[in-house]
Amino acid sequence: LSEAGLRGLGGAGFPIGRKWDVVRREPGPRLMAVNADEGEPGTFKDRLLLETEPHRVLEGMLLGAWAVEAAEVYLYLRDEYPEARQVLAAEIAAIEAAGLAPHARIHLRRGAGAYICGEESAMLESLEGRRGLPRHRPPFAAQVGLFRRPTLVNNVETLFWVPEILARGADWWAGHGRHGRRGLRCFSVSGRVREPGVKVAPAGVTLRELVEEFCGGMAEGHRLKAYLPGGASGGILPERLADLPLDFGVLEPHGCFVGSAAVVVLSDQDDLAEVARGLLRFFEDESCGQCTPCRVGTHKATALLARPRWDRALLGELATVMADASICGLGQAAMNPVLSLLRHFPEDVP
Ligand code: SF4
Repeated sequence: LSEAGLRGLGGAGFPIGRKWDVVRREPGPRLMAVNADEGEPGTFKDRLLLETEPHRVLEGMLLGAWAVEAAEVYLYLRDEYPEARQVLAAEIAAIEAAGLAPHARIHLRRGAGAYICGEESAMLESLEGRRGLPRHRPPFAAQVGLFRRPTLVNNVETLFWVPEILARGADWWAGHGRHGRRGLRCFSVSGRVREPGVKVAPAGVTLRELVEEFCGGMAEGHRLKAYLPGGASGGILPERLADLPLDFGVLEPHGCFVGSAAVVVLSDQDDLAEVARGLLRFFEDESCGQCTPCRVGTHKATALLARPRWDRALLGELATVMADASICGLGQAAMNPVLSLLRHFPEDVP
């Protein structure tokens, strides 16, 4: 896995081989948690994988548990996926009945509809039966995770690729990818394209290639204007930057990130200021309220964005405070849509 260069596809992109190695080096007993709380707006790939390829995901999960010697595995599934739950419950029972998981007990847990519980440490809190409030880090889950034990936390899609890479080899995986990138990725594509959906494409594919080659082009009567490369918090990029490889570390200089590859395509018929307002209302609603910069900041931001003319300086100041002082990624990245508009679309700012 290390040779292949597989990275965590839940959004953070941490090298998987290294993560498994780090957890395994911690003193036992160790645990494993699978993050299936796919809540990023625009992301729906994990749902498809769980509903259509559950064996591959579960096999990857059991391999991970074997590698770090985790005797207990907790699969945290968002409650909005009842079909996936049915599939998983049946397949986990079948695995146990067939004696295929003698090394690990599998626990299927339901989330309760909070976006923040997709954040790793909030998910661990929720799994322990508490409110899903993100933890301060360090320590990281690999050292102090679920029930204060060293814990391997992996996303659904990451585990989906594990059996395939082990069967076909690192070279097979590294042979995929474009523009100097390695591997494959499931892109959740929505918005103004002719054929939206989950697209398995080479890592590093550009937005323009993704739309033209995998989505049948733009929808009838729509011209590409902007796109969200990584869901609600990954920022907004303009059409002139549609030839950047969609991969980790590429979009950051432009104030964006690819995250879980939730690509939302916007056209000349979309009101970008309204898009930013909608996203900030979402963050205001989903802020867990634990820290002031995020709880108050998202509230202030929605009020500022509702004004007929935006106060650019004040919005910029608020964004800096939220990015610097919020506990977790929600508050740190919540202003990305606004900052993207100020930077890339000054003509769309009221
Ligand atoms: Fe909660 Fe927001 Fe603070 Fe994260 S940044 S801990 S979501 S209040």
